Amino acid sequence: MPTSREATPRARARRDAAPPAAPDAATGGPLVEVRRSRRRSRTVSAWREDGRTVVAIPARFTRAQEREWVGRMVERLAAQERRRRPSDAQLAARATELSRRYLGGRAVPTSVRWSTNQGRRWGSCTPSEGTIRISDRVRGMPRWVLDYVLLHELTHLLQPGHGEAFWAELEAYPHTQRARGFLEGCAFARDGADGPRDDGDDEPSDDPAVTDEVGAGPDA
Ligand SMILES: [Zn+2]
Repeated sequence: MPTSREATPRARARRDAAPPAAPDAATGGPLVEVRRSRRRSRTVSAWREDGRTVVAIPARFTRAQEREWVGRMVERLAAQERRRRPSDAQLAARATELSRRYLGGRAVPTSVRWSTNQGRRWGSCTPSEGTIRISDRVRGMPRWVLDYVLLHELTHLLQPGHGEAFWAELEAYPHTQRARGFLEGCAFARDGADGPRDDGDDEPSDDPAVTDEVGAGPDA
């Protein structure tokens, strides 16, 4: 694959130095940095770091193996990110599927969109209009977290508050508690110990148009 062939020789030449985070001129894509590790015997890992793509490989790999694995891992990473960053249309389709699977298809939003102005909230729902907005910050989070935020907002089309009936609707989804913990951890990392908590007893918003917020708190 072109990305790895272009990037590999240069990455090798300076693998012990701190490489500059410049874009890869040959591909226009992010620069690929290869890190050889003696501690690795069989595992290959790839991740994004400061605008670069880092691929960690065992020190014993040949140049051919390096080329093969860098190409494979760059493509795998890109595929993973495509899965984790669905479009508005994919978001709406996912909401429909989740409503069907966990809410008997009873929650039918008029629109489901990504939003960049959700403030500290992870999502919001306006039941009177049937609209759901999901914070752009949820994009890139694991699928089961996004699914929880979608289901939370879908459930508000059926239950406006956060009473027992609300949480009973979410019991069918197996990752509810885990996802709430994940989001609480994200809020903690952002706001620190003094930040809002997820204690699940938030009041509806004063703004009559917005009855819910899956936010940094009190309801995350
Ligand atoms: Zn809510």
